[in-house]
Amino acid sequence: MRRLTADHFVNELDRRHPAAYTIEDGETVLVETADCHGGFVGREGALRPGGPRPNPATGPIAVKGATPGEALAVAIRQVKPAEWGFIGGGAQGEPFTVVDIKDGVATYPWGLRLPVNPIIGVIGLAPPGEPVPTNTPSDWGGNLDTVDICAGATIYLPVAVPGGMLALGDVHALQGDSECCGTGIECAAEVTLTVRREPYPIWHRTYLVHDDRLMVFAHADTVDDAAWGAVDQMVQLLTKITPRTEVEARRLLSTAGEVRISQIVNPKKTCRAIIPRQAIPEQWPF
Ligand code: CA
Ligand code: CA
Repeated sequence: MRRLTADHFVNELDRRHPAAYTIEDGETVLVETADCHGGFVGREGALRPGGPRPNPATGPIAVKGATPGEALAVAIRQVKPAEWGFIGGGAQGEPFTVVDIKDGVATYPWGLRLPVNPIIGVIGLAPPGEPVPTNTPSDWGGNLDTVDICAGATIYLPVAVPGGMLALGDVHALQGDSECCGTGIECAAEVTLTVRREPYPIWHRTYLVHDDRLMVFAHADTVDDAAWGAVDQMVQLLTKITPRTEVEARRLLSTAGEVRISQIVNPKKTCRAIIPRQAIPEQWPF
């Protein structure tokens, strides 16, 4: 298995960036990711000057043959956090809270021990138009900060440029829905992925399958607009992949689905609408 090192990174998802790596369709790779400050936070919890801009994302990774109109299906095999991470900083003006991570358990400074649930904060492809900074989300992925982007999930990202140009980083050893202090447990990581072309994506924006749940994402200036945007997307998707009418689809989502806040701290807020497999058992597309 090839190891793609974190010394090749981007701070924007940008169609003009050349590929740092090129992989085969269907290849499994190990991607090293730096923490959100590029390794410039010390164990004492202070940020040293001179680091990269926030959220360096390893890549871009071109996938041979990936063509606009397709999706890249990224199956997340493993997200292995480093031996420590940190929480906070930025607007709070306080030193970071440093957390030890060992054997799948995070130990807070006050002794609390919680099992980790590592997620990938930033994962996306190059958009067709203006670059998207890795501190914000978009329809091509990016800073989604969603707890379901974890091992066992497959994220489908729409290809806008040849090769797709995948980049990822900003792993959180643990994060809750909303990420309300601005960070998870930020850490470097080793991420194992299998990436394949999906010539017939079921949706033209990013979607994700995790634990027999299908989800779509919307991003907006307000949580309200992001939530309703996610609802509208899922209703449209359900009318596409099932015989349900729009009214029936909305009633199905309202009763059998969920709308959850992914994050409320990035320049655009992210919500996701979720439909479980049991709500569309005959049409489950995976
Ligand atoms: Ca993030
Ligand atoms: Ca982060």
